[in-house]
Amino acid sequence: MLDIKWIRNHQDQVREAAVQKGVDCPLEELLEAEEKKRQLQHRVDQLRAERNRATAQIAKHMAEKNRSEAEALKEQVRSWNASLAVDEAELGKVEERFKELMLTVPNLFSPETPLGATDQDNIVIKVVRQPAAFTFEPRDHMQIGEDLDIIDVPRGVKVAGSRNYYLKGMGLHLHRAVQQLAIDLLTDRGFTVMDVPLMVREETLVNAAFFPAGKDQTYELQEENKWLAGTSEGPLVSYYANEIVDLSQGPIQLAAVSNCFRKEAGSAGRDVRGLYRVHQFAKVEQVIVCENDPAAADQMLDQITRNAEDILDLLELPYRIVAVCAGDMGAKNYKQYDIETWMPSRNAYGETHSSSSLLEFQARRSGLRYRDGNGELRYCFTLNNTAVATPRILIPLLENHQQADGSIYIPAALRPYMRGLAAIPGK
Ligand code: AMP
Repeated sequence: MLDIKWIRNHQDQVREAAVQKGVDCPLEELLEAEEKKRQLQHRVDQLRAERNRATAQIAKHMAEKNRSEAEALKEQVRSWNASLAVDEAELGKVEERFKELMLTVPNLFSPETPLGATDQDNIVIKVVRQPAAFTFEPRDHMQIGEDLDIIDVPRGVKVAGSRNYYLKGMGLHLHRAVQQLAIDLLTDRGFTVMDVPLMVREETLVNAAFFPAGKDQTYELQEENKWLAGTSEGPLVSYYANEIVDLSQGPIQLAAVSNCFRKEAGSAGRDVRGLYRVHQFAKVEQVIVCENDPAAADQMLDQITRNAEDILDLLELPYRIVAVCAGDMGAKNYKQYDIETWMPSRNAYGETHSSSSLLEFQARRSGLRYRDGNGELRYCFTLNNTAVATPRILIPLLENHQQADGSIYIPAALRPYMRGLAAIPGK
């Protein structure tokens, strides 16, 4: 959320952000609602003050036995009460609408963000490793999964519907291994690793700026009056909601490993084969809470992107980084890099990580503050990035590391988590 005063004074910038991000933000209505709210609040405050003065006066008249003055004032108070009831009800409605409209305002985007509407407009800023040339006909991850009996999509669909799967044997070990590798790397780098609640209150997802826009992507647990988190970013950002955190020792680094549940509404017909786009997956997520300083946020963005790159380096996978354009980035993001890993079966890079800086957008919604060096209370900045998401990462792992004999090479860094195996034997 942006500051309403800032919005009023920078309307063109807000309009530009909404247009470039393709977000429907009724700015005029928001500003009108704010003006109306201010006027109503002023009137209500004045009437309340008058009423309080009159009530004190009535008590004085009563004590002095000035009955007729007291009665006249009581009549006046009754009439103010009637007006107040109307104004307070109106104020309640206007405040409600104002809050709703505030949630439609997107974050700004950074000056370095490329302009454009789709992922075609993202700009490649780094390429690491070249995809290997196969000397045999490579199989896709689905074929490998079936041949090695480690992925079973048909039974996933039988049991749970489309975009579901089972991981079996070495498939499960690989899925767990990449998560544990990421957890260990982040622990070594000072992150506090966490297991987080995934059935969360609506306000958690509003605070983290997933709602209202992302409601159609999120499973609702109606009877519980809760929602099933699509990523641990929400519960992580909300961990310190409405608190004043201590940043004097440096940024707070949190990470969680969790399942993620997504409806994938609007993805009908897209990425239907295999493990690329599923309803339930696991993700190790990084979240940073840092001071309100753009330079510090840029440095942290590089750092959390580097963490993900280091994991891909340990997995010995070819990848590239793209600067995500305004129209392809989330409405809540100020700056976003995606990491895309080479997927031979797609003959293309596919997104495996998303690294974002949000400035104070989430913190303002979440009431997440700290005291700066001068003792002033300020909103923190927040950032997040995937450390690893699986089973999507199994696609490049299995496909890039397949060998002519049907086995799958296991990178050295993964072996301690794979029962010491250097390869999954072919069948
Ligand atoms: P996000 O939390 O949307 O930034 O996504 C982070 C990463 O999670 C993506 O880069 C993917 O690797 C993975 N991911 C997101 N959505 C899905 C999905 N529906 N199925 C599998 N993996 C996903």
